[in-house]
Formats: sequence, structure tokens, C-alpha cells
Amino acid sequence: MTSVDSKMVIALDLEGVLADILAAWVKEYEKEFRINDVTDWDFTSLRKWNETLEKFLFETDHLWNNNYTKIPPLIANIKKATDRLKPFDIVTSRHTLDGIKLWLDLHNIDYRAIVYIPDKKPVLNYKTFIDDNPYIVNTLKDEQFLWLIDHPYNRSVQEKENIKRISSINEVE
Ligand SMILES: [Mg+2]
Repeated sequence: MTSVDSKMVIALDLEGVLADILAAWVKEYEKEFRINDVTDWDFTSLRKWNETLEKFLFETDHLWNNNYTKIPPLIANIKKATDRLKPFDIVTSRHTLDGIKLWLDLHNIDYRAIVYIPDKKPVLNYKTFIDDNPYIVNTLKDEQFLWLIDHPYNRSVQEKENIKRISSINEVE
């Protein structure tokens, strides 16, 4: 592998950016709510269906570990769409790294490394993040840039000089 200045490498999130984990969760566990009913990051919007963040994490850990092929890509032609972002690392807060690696291989995604970090991604030395987590803006530094993938649960984030909202990675400039 050729050496690349790590500041040029994009920190590319997995769930809600590449992998449609909410669609898989709703389908495989036959949920009664719809994806668009998830209107906040902590799943309080799903209380009336008796869903919690803990339940989401538990059930979707199981999907990543045992049924990763059931997790659909969020966008069509994902190989082509990700190739134009190279070089990038997959930077994720999901700890099921074996299943994640198999999923990335299944879709032929040519990443540099997989980086697991439970929280506060901007402490990592990347200049550009592509993510759907509204809380990432709390620790984003002025010299870092965020492409925020638009979802009902992150609409509270305001665009500014270093935060731009887009509907998919195909809109990254
Ligand atoms: Mg995400």
C-alpha cells in the first residue's frame, strides 16, 4: 500500500451511511414502526412501540454477527460510490468487527482500515468525516469538515462552514 497522509484519508461511517441498519432491524425483527418513525438518535421516539436504544444495539449486534447478508446497502452501486471517496477508513462505533469486515468484503468496498471508536470520533486525526450521528458536531473541531448524511433523526443539526448536509455519499464533493 502506498503511504498516504492520514489527514487526506476520509473517516467514513458505516451505519446510516453505507449500511441500512434500520431497514434490516425493522424487516428481520418484524417491527411495527417504520424507519421514518425514528426521529431522534436515542430512540425515545420509539417508546410507544416499546423499543429502546439497548434493544436496538442488542438485536442489531446479532444481525452483524450472524446475519450480516441481511443488512442492505443504503445506496445503489455502493462499490462505485465508495471508490470515488478513496482513500478512506471505515470509522464505526459498532464493535462487531468480524461481521463488519465480511459485509464490506461482500460489497467489494475498498477501505484502508477499519477503526472502532465507541464515541467522540473527532478526537481522531481525520480532516473529513462522513457520518449520520447528530452528536458528532459537539466535538467537531473548526479545522475538521463533516458531510452529514440526512436522516429524520439528525435534522436538528444546522449547516455551517464546516458542516454540510447531503442525502447520500454520492453528493460528496
Ligand atoms: Mg452511523
